[in-house]
Amino acid sequence: MNILILGSGGREHTFAYKISQSKRCTKLFVAPGNAGTAAIATNVSLNVTNFEAVKNCVVDNTIEMVVVGPEDPLVQGIANYFAETPELKDVMLIGPSKRGALLEGSKERAKEFMMQHNIPTAAYESFTAKSLDAGKLFLENLNPPYVLKADGLAAGKGVLILNDLAEAKQELENMLTHSKFGEASSKVVIEEFLDGIELSVFVLTDGKNYKVLPTAKDYKRIGEGDTGLNTGGMGAISPVPFADEVLMKKIEDRIVKPTVNGLAKESIDYKGFVFIGLIKVNNEPYVIEYNVRMGDPETEVVLPRIKTDLIDLFEATYHQKLNDISIEIDERAATTVMLVSGGYPEAYEKGKEILGLELVEGSTVFHAGTKSENGKILTNGGRVLAVTSLDADFKKALKKSYQNIEKLSFDRMQYRTDIGFDL
Ligand code: AMP
Repeated sequence: MNILILGSGGREHTFAYKISQSKRCTKLFVAPGNAGTAAIATNVSLNVTNFEAVKNCVVDNTIEMVVVGPEDPLVQGIANYFAETPELKDVMLIGPSKRGALLEGSKERAKEFMMQHNIPTAAYESFTAKSLDAGKLFLENLNPPYVLKADGLAAGKGVLILNDLAEAKQELENMLTHSKFGEASSKVVIEEFLDGIELSVFVLTDGKNYKVLPTAKDYKRIGEGDTGLNTGGMGAISPVPFADEVLMKKIEDRIVKPTVNGLAKESIDYKGFVFIGLIKVNNEPYVIEYNVRMGDPETEVVLPRIKTDLIDLFEATYHQKLNDISIEIDERAATTVMLVSGGYPEAYEKGKEILGLELVEGSTVFHAGTKSENGKILTNGGRVLAVTSLDADFKKALKKSYQNIEKLSFDRMQYRTDIGFDL
């Protein structure tokens, strides 16, 4: 089978790595890809939200399966485009329809879905510029900290958590009337703050059946001890040690099943991943967000633990036969540590040569922002490499990642040395 993966991060390199190991994979393409995917697949230079360019790539290369990495093409309706385009309608696209993707594309929609299907989440209300005064009044009646969320996609930056009431009111105004996050904040969800510990649960669903994939916990802040600015993610661990059987049963019964049943009840065409962001408060799970694709860097610890052939899993997903296939999980723990460019998540330089990749042993290095030029591998983004290791427990796995990181270098390379510190 010829397969195309859309995206260019560590997530997509991990998909490519797993899919390239399948006997069923004939030719593998990644668009646009990075230096890591170039080593195991053919990179195709195209913009993943240019559906016509994607179509041409699929047709020219007789591609039978397309795996969509990032949320943008999903929210813009790539699955609908495939279903409606005669040349593409039999191509197995892994990713939800536009209506399904709205669970990530609109925070308000996600909250309404959760309310409708009795899925535990924080109490909320949503406001627009017209209801700014009501929004301020709503804030006055809440206890701090105040959680303000831009309704639309804001590249992971649209959530503000503020302790001060006056500041919260001002930021609400900035979002609603001064387009703080552009069109994304023309509507704002204000919700109750949940005080607990976060984890993520990943589900693969065909819209009717589902498989629960390994759990993961990511580390978002740039600084040690979870301090400083938010990033795309500085590292991750799977499984989450505190996600024991009791908690997982609650999550499956109260959240996963009602979510999949809710999709079915609303006749939403959903063949893909649901990434459920959760907070555990006094041992009870609450949803803080849905994403309609895998996370990055969580993919770098979740997929390496899936032993089942990914092509088999995706084919079963596309044909709504997920119940006919079993999923085998590697019992070992996986960890990943991100190496980032100095200055990230603010301004940073690109084009620095990466040295030592050939010295890594016992870990897998997934490329994020990299490119190859004249036989050299250069940095090409804020997050550059994810160093993943597997071992009996996450501390042993982390040790391997950190030992291999010692062998890697580029100018102003930076990483957190405390992934898993709170577990
Ligand atoms: P989201 O984009 O909705 O996942 O929000 C980004 C981050 O804000 C989450 O990963 C949480 O750390 C935090 N957050 C979101 N909603 C809440 C909430 N209701 N209570 C506490 N923290 C939250």
